[in-house]
Amino acid sequence: MTPLPRNLLSANASVDADGRLRIAGLDALDLASEFGTPLFIYDEDDLRSRARAAVDAFGDGVAFASKSFLCKAMARLAYDEGMCIDVSTAGELHVVLAAGVPAARLVLHGNNKSDDELARALDIGVGRIIVDSFDEIDRIATLLEARPDLTPRVLIRVTPGVEAHTHEYVMTGQEDSKFGFSVASGAAAKAIDRLQSLGVNLVGIHAHIGSQIFRTIAFEQEVAVLAEVVKDMDIEELCIGGGLGVAYVEHEEGPTMAQWGATVRAAAAKAGVAADVRITAEPGRSIVAPAAVTLYTVGTIKHLHGIRTYAAVDGGMSDNPRPVLYGSGYETFLPRCVDADRDLTVTLVGKHCESGDVIVRDGRVPLDIAVGDIIATPVTGAYGYSMASNYNKVPRPPVVFVKEGDARLVVRRETVDDLLRLDVE
Ligand SMILES: *Cc1c(COP(=O)(O)O)cnc(C)c1O
Repeated sequence: MTPLPRNLLSANASVDADGRLRIAGLDALDLASEFGTPLFIYDEDDLRSRARAAVDAFGDGVAFASKSFLCKAMARLAYDEGMCIDVSTAGELHVVLAAGVPAARLVLHGNNKSDDELARALDIGVGRIIVDSFDEIDRIATLLEARPDLTPRVLIRVTPGVEAHTHEYVMTGQEDSKFGFSVASGAAAKAIDRLQSLGVNLVGIHAHIGSQIFRTIAFEQEVAVLAEVVKDMDIEELCIGGGLGVAYVEHEEGPTMAQWGATVRAAAAKAGVAADVRITAEPGRSIVAPAAVTLYTVGTIKHLHGIRTYAAVDGGMSDNPRPVLYGSGYETFLPRCVDADRDLTVTLVGKHCESGDVIVRDGRVPLDIAVGDIIATPVTGAYGYSMASNYNKVPRPPVVFVKEGDARLVVRRETVDDLLRLDVE
């Protein structure tokens, strides 16, 4: 069976003369020895060029969806490359501010923002607030009574009634949704009226139809609905959210950032959106997923005759819950022989006390896989570390950024003492 498709490796990954994986010039097996496993390795220049591609495709105002992967280094990188940053909780806001990103570059999201979150956002002057409910409008109204000096810039989030072809849990544009105001029911129009009577600056409209979307037709449908909502309004911005899909496994191919931008701009023009309205987006996955690889160590291999072979590693659902949550697929390979044929099918599992703790269901690996091997899963930069947990009290892995032959630890590995830091007695 075929070797790992090279397009699933990050831009600066290569294979050396011995067949071993290098990332930004560094031997992946050396990185595993230096930092231990499990280990998240991000190709920094790949992250940077993806962020730049987003700015090129959409211009100023395009925001990195921080929930996909957030630490201070990542927030700084996105900001340095010209992106704004989406946050949807006080926690994400705290980390991004700690990274030194100015509040004016932030976009506050959330379907249930608390009074404290809204007050803080108003106080520090976040660049944009995406309003999601009538209760939130009431809260903003109350807060502004006490602060008549403020004129926050807000966008209204609507549900356009578009069903993107993706997993139900990450589909957000349909009518039955906890997010936004429904266009079809008239709630969106009512919310716009209310916002216009408040002391806010209603700069635009926003929708987010879901995640891991390959077919750009869904975004074209979304733009058509948004254009209809704002046709008589004087707005500055139309934000289409995130959701651009990326290839995780063989034979998948997502649109490029440039194709995505061009498609939605053309759809906006076709729908009669004025040329001076900024079309913006909020990519998360497509910035970070393809830039990272996770390394694990194989600890046990069980051949169940006539059933399957299990290869168990030193991480699992605590560092990558996507297979458990969404049934997501990944590829797997051995960094010591990247281009080897993968003739053995194994179920790659973690070390957690659950049968569902699967990382790759039918992973293909070389026949000579052995206990002690370093094994890799590519395209793990999004919704892995950010959704990581301490289940079974497994410490979370470190995050290393590699660039031009240098490796930089940006988040250290948790220790077992870290697991006790919240216990008060
Ligand atoms: C999750 C999310 C995004 C990012 O989605 P990706 O699929 O990671 O690009 C953008 N906007 C909103 C409102 C989101 O909830």
